[in-house]
Parts: sequence; structure tokens; C-alpha cells
Amino acid sequence: MARYRESACRLCRRETQKLYLKGDRCFTDKCAVERRNYAPGQHGQARGKLSDYGLQLREKQKVRRIYGLGEKQFHLTYLNATRMRGVAGHNLLMLLELRLDNVIYRLGFASSRNQARHWVRYGHVLVNGRRMNIPSARIKIGDVVSLKPASKDEVPQIKETLANLGRKSVPAWLEVDAANYTGAIKALPSREELTIPMQEQLIIELYSR
Ligand code: SF4
Repeated sequence: MARYRESACRLCRRETQKLYLKGDRCFTDKCAVERRNYAPGQHGQARGKLSDYGLQLREKQKVRRIYGLGEKQFHLTYLNATRMRGVAGHNLLMLLELRLDNVIYRLGFASSRNQARHWVRYGHVLVNGRRMNIPSARIKIGDVVSLKPASKDEVPQIKETLANLGRKSVPAWLEVDAANYTGAIKALPSREELTIPMQEQLIIELYSR
């Protein structure tokens, strides 16, 4: 997958809203959207009204960037969502939420999805006691997610993040055991519990064109 190597803040500015890609920094006044809330580039401040297609495209790009997926991977997730029973838009959001890197982030084991992806890739994450190094792995009800015991002491950033564990609110469909640094999936998230600002219908319309 082609990797985006430029500034994450630029992505937020392109969507003119906070996507929370940089962990704790996003909650400070250093946030680029707080400072310059318009699209980057020479014509950033002069962009006019979007067409229907433009709205759909921006919505898709926003959600894709929040979860840190490439276009191909995002489209595959959409296709999987349409093959499932139920409403495709809800399924899409649910599949994105059930990714291992997202679950690690939601549980508070990492300060951003990007950091969570690093923990997974570098072998710091266990699922049901076994090492799992695939960030896109889909987590199921009953799975127990934890960090490798040695990593908690060896990696300063992990230690730092875990020091704040339990202070961050965790979605109702997840359960965190802050004392033992483990988390579990209690149920599949309902649409009401998925509070991410997303108009999934626009994404479905874009891919259905
Ligand atoms: Fe986005 Fe965070 Fe950068 Fe603000 S600090 S622009 S929310 S990545």
C-alpha cells in the first residue's frame, strides 16, 4: 500500500475539521485546524461550493483518513460491507471499528490510530494471548486484546500511554481492565454507539455511481 508521508495535519486541514490523527497534540492549541481552518494550498481559502459528487468524495476521504486506510483497502472494506446482511453504511462503519488498530486506540492503549498501528506491526499486541501483527485483523465478540507484558516496560511511549489508561472514556461495546492492561469486545457496536462524524450514505452513493 502506498504510504502517505506528508503532514497528518494537512489532511485535517483539507477536510477543514479535526480528524485526531496525532494523539495528544490534537487537544492542544498547536492543532493546525485551530490555527488555520481552511484547506491548504494557494487556493485553500478560495474554494467554493461543492457539487454532490464533491460532497460524497470529501466524506469518503475524511473517513478513510480518520481510519488511516489506503483507497484500495477502504474500497475492499466497502465491498465486504455490502456483502453482509443489514445496512451497508452501518456495516462499513462497524468493519472499520472492529479493526485491531482501531480497537487498540479505542481501548486507550495508544494515543492515536497511527500509534496503535505501530504497536501492532512491531509485535507489541496480543489477541487472546497470541501475538497479532496485522493492523487490519478483524476483532470478534469475546476476543481479549492486550499488550505484550515486556513491551509495557521496554517501550517508553507505551509506558507513557498506559499511565493514563482508564482516564479516557471507552465505548460501551468495549470493556477495559486498566489494572491488567487488557480489553475485551462485549458486543458489536450499534449505530448509535458509533459517534464518529460520518454520513455513510454519501460514501455508499459515491461507490454506487
Ligand atoms: Fe488534525 Fe491533530 Fe493535526 Fe489538529 S493536531 S490538525 S486534529 S492531526
